[in-house]
Amino acid sequence: VSEWPPLPILEPSLVAEQAPFWDAAARSELVLPRCRSCREFIWYPRAFCPNCHTSMVDWMPASGHGTVYSFTVVARGVGVWADYTPYVVAYVELDEGPRVLTNIVGPGADTIRIGCRVTARFDPAGDTKLLRFTAI
Ligand SMILES: [Zn+2]
Repeated sequence: VSEWPPLPILEPSLVAEQAPFWDAAARSELVLPRCRSCREFIWYPRAFCPNCHTSMVDWMPASGHGTVYSFTVVARGVGVWADYTPYVVAYVELDEGPRVLTNIVGPGADTIRIGCRVTARFDPAGDTKLLRFTAI
């Protein structure tokens, strides 16, 4: 298994509503908001439910495990990404349900396939860490 070079780190814009997500990410932990009413996990992180519009949301620890739902290998990047090709952009379906647009990085990124199992990994980015995934 080979490994492509690391991807650039772009510091996220921190939104107060998402503080529980970013605080957990800084500890390399994944938490997801879950609606107290309809029990759905919510992505992207926010303090209301897009399904039933309640603001009764609990922040729950997530497994960090998921399955590649779809992906592409970017061969020609734009801007800061131009120097990092090839790299993988993927939708990962978390075991909790949400589909997350993310990068697959680390060993095995070059052989990733739909249906592959992946796990969360957190890359330092300023005061927090970025959620990405790596093959299991
Ligand atoms: Zn709901």
